[in-house]
Amino acid sequence: MKPRLIALDGPVAVGKSSVGSLLARRLCYTFFDTGTMYRAFTWQVLKAGIPADDEEQLCQLANTTRFDFVPVKSGCLLTPFVDDEDVSSKLFRPDVEERVSLTSRIAGVRQALILEQRRLARRGEVVMAGRDIGTVVLPWAELKIFLTASPEERARRRYRELSERGENASLETVLDDLKRRDGMDMQRTISPLRPAEDAVIIDTEGFTLEQIVDKIYVLTMSP
Ligand code: C5P
Repeated sequence: MKPRLIALDGPVAVGKSSVGSLLARRLCYTFFDTGTMYRAFTWQVLKAGIPADDEEQLCQLANTTRFDFVPVKSGCLLTPFVDDEDVSSKLFRPDVEERVSLTSRIAGVRQALILEQRRLARRGEVVMAGRDIGTVVLPWAELKIFLTASPEERARRRYRELSERGENASLETVLDDLKRRDGMDMQRTISPLRPAEDAVIIDTEGFTLEQIVDKIYVLTMSP
């Protein structure tokens, strides 16, 4: 029996999306990246002009925002809609990147988003990526993976990705931003970034994407 729910956690730019989407395609599962949801929500916050420290308004917005994740052609990936707007082009804006870890520290925001994430997981056959999937969102997931790589390696990967997308950023800025976000994600009191006790930790450094997916695929076959 293959695991019906696979939790895939790890720090910024460790390759969760690339690994998760390829793994999902191989298993014919749906890939859902919860970072997308925090980013999409942060875009709503910025549009509404809500200050980072206004917890009451942030929670109210989180509880009234409608998230939809619509399958695109391949069936494995989902396009994020927030209140009927396709927000896929907004997710990596510098202002979203700057604010997202601050927004995700708020307990009420997490509560609202986690409810949505669990709702999405109910369909089963899901690979769900994030920071707290194995520990908080889906502690009952049958397979939990935690990916790691050094900050320098992850910064190089993110820098390549941004350059391919035609976005201007120096490697130094990317590394600084990554360390800043990792710090906030690891040190927050609610749902900090850390591996679940029963997670399999995979160091991705020195391995190709296919090799990492192969390793996880083998784990899905183990009893
Ligand atoms: O994975 P990604 O870099 O897109 O996530 C953006 C941010 O969203 C993270 O830095 C983190 O602050 C937040 N996040 C979270 N919990 C998750 C997924 C993402 O707090 N499950």
